[in-house]
Amino acid sequence: MKPSRRDFLKIAGMSTLSLVVPTIISPAWAKEKLTIPGGESLTAKRWAMTIDASKCPAGCVDCITACHGAHNVPDFGNPKDEVKWIWQEKFSAAFPNESHPYLRESQKKLKLPVFCNQCANPPCVRVCPTKSTFQRQDGIVMMDYHRCIGCRLCMAACPYGARSMNYRDPLPFIRKTNPDFPTRTKGVVEKCNFCEERLAMGLKPACVAACKEKALVFGDMENPRSEIRILLEKRFNLRRRASLGTQPQIYYIV
Ligand code: SF4
Repeated sequence: MKPSRRDFLKIAGMSTLSLVVPTIISPAWAKEKLTIPGGESLTAKRWAMTIDASKCPAGCVDCITACHGAHNVPDFGNPKDEVKWIWQEKFSAAFPNESHPYLRESQKKLKLPVFCNQCANPPCVRVCPTKSTFQRQDGIVMMDYHRCIGCRLCMAACPYGARSMNYRDPLPFIRKTNPDFPTRTKGVVEKCNFCEERLAMGLKPACVAACKEKALVFGDMENPRSEIRILLEKRFNLRRRASLGTQPQIYYIV
């Protein structure tokens, strides 16, 4: 049987990756191993993350810089065209239902890192007509950039604004290209992927590895002895707009 165009792209992609993977990522955080056991690649039944924003020093954007650098996120320099995988929101914007005029001053000033919530019940996946966005068994909501037709239904369905559209060609706006990760084209939607490409290499997500304050903890929600489960048992936490039934897998310790 003749290979299809898609088969060809897959094979070409894998060959390219095998050539570049061992050489490219340079920052120290990029090669730090995760302590979750799982052999070469890191595996889980349900990946999730906690964020203790009280540990985030004012003005720190290390997680954003690491994520955007690792994933070739373009910087268009204006909010209209902005493409973002991680960004910051005030507590009142991230949790409007939990906000009131008498919040602690420290809470009012908090800037929370926000991104795709890797929802266990993701509306974006349900509306995608080409299945370019889909959910893995371990819960990660993925994007197949080759299948995306730029219809933006996923953007309309996501209640968190976690998806960005490349309205312009992103290539000239990538500061330093990381050849370990694909670049995108105009007309393609993108978002956080929980660093699935790094998990496959046995590395923790770039944002987690880059955080010097250990404010981000990543792990398996189905393992009662995992660091994330132990942390969530001890500390009060919130999920963004959980009342919508999306079952977000990012937990904010407040
Ligand atoms: Fe989809 Fe938005 Fe949920 Fe991410 S946060 S899984 S993009 S609905």
